[in-house]
Amino acid sequence: MRKAILAGLFVAPLLAVLMWPWSPWAALGMVMVSHALVLYPTLRANAQWLGPVATTFDTDARELWLTIDDGPTADTTAILDALDARGARATFFVKGEAAANDPDAIRTIVGRGHGVANHSYSHPSASFWCLPPAAIRREVEECNRVLREITGSVPVMFRAPVGMKNPFVHPALGSMTLVGWTARAFDTATSDPEKVLRRLLPDIGPGSILLLHQGRPRSVEIISRVVDALQERGYSFVLPPAGRLKTKR
Ligand SMILES: [Zn+2]
Repeated sequence: MRKAILAGLFVAPLLAVLMWPWSPWAALGMVMVSHALVLYPTLRANAQWLGPVATTFDTDARELWLTIDDGPTADTTAILDALDARGARATFFVKGEAAANDPDAIRTIVGRGHGVANHSYSHPSASFWCLPPAAIRREVEECNRVLREITGSVPVMFRAPVGMKNPFVHPALGSMTLVGWTARAFDTATSDPEKVLRRLLPDIGPGSILLLHQGRPRSVEIISRVVDALQERGYSFVLPPAGRLKTKR
C-alpha cells in the first residue's frame, strides 16, 4: 500500500500535466487526491496505509499495556514509585536527547522492571511528519544509539512524535515495531485526572494500549488514578512482547 501511494504521488502530477489542456479542474483534483492519500495516513496516528501500526495486543486476560511518553523528566522516579506501589508495569517511550542528559533515569526504569522504547531523539513535534528520509533516520537511530549505550540493548519499539508518521518512517525502523495506541486522553491538554479517566474508559478492553504522558503538572496523579481505577475493574498492567502486538482490535 505504501509503495502504491508513493507511486501515485509521483504519477499523478505527470498525468495532471498531460490532462491539463483538456480538463484543468480534473487535473487539479487528481493532484489534490494523491496528496490527500499521503497526508491522511501521515497525520492520522493509527492509520495503517503506510505500514503496520500496533494498536492493541493479543491476550485472553484482562491485561493492559500502559505506555508513558516524553520522558525522562523530573517526575520519573515519582511515577516509578506510584507504579511499583501498585504492582503495575509500564513502557516509557523516551526522547534520546533527554535520556542522554539523564542516563540514570533510564537505568532506574529498566532496573525496576519497566520497559524503555524509542520516541525519537529530539521529538520535533511540529515537523516530524514532514521530515525527509535522512532526518527521520537520524531521529530513530540517534535515540537507539543513546539507549543502547545506557542499557546495553537496542529498543524494539518506536512511537512517532505526536503519532504522525510519513512514508519514510517505516523504512527507517528496520525490524522495530511502530506503536500507536488504543486509548488516549489528551492528558497534555488537561491536568484533571477524572477527565483523563472519563476519556480513556470507553475505549478500554483486554489488550488495550493506553497512552499517557509524563513531565506535566499532575502526571503522577493522573497515572496513579488511571491505574487505580482500572485495577479496580480487574485489569492488570503488563509489558507485552513485540510478538503479541497487533495492528487491529
Ligand atoms: Zn511525544
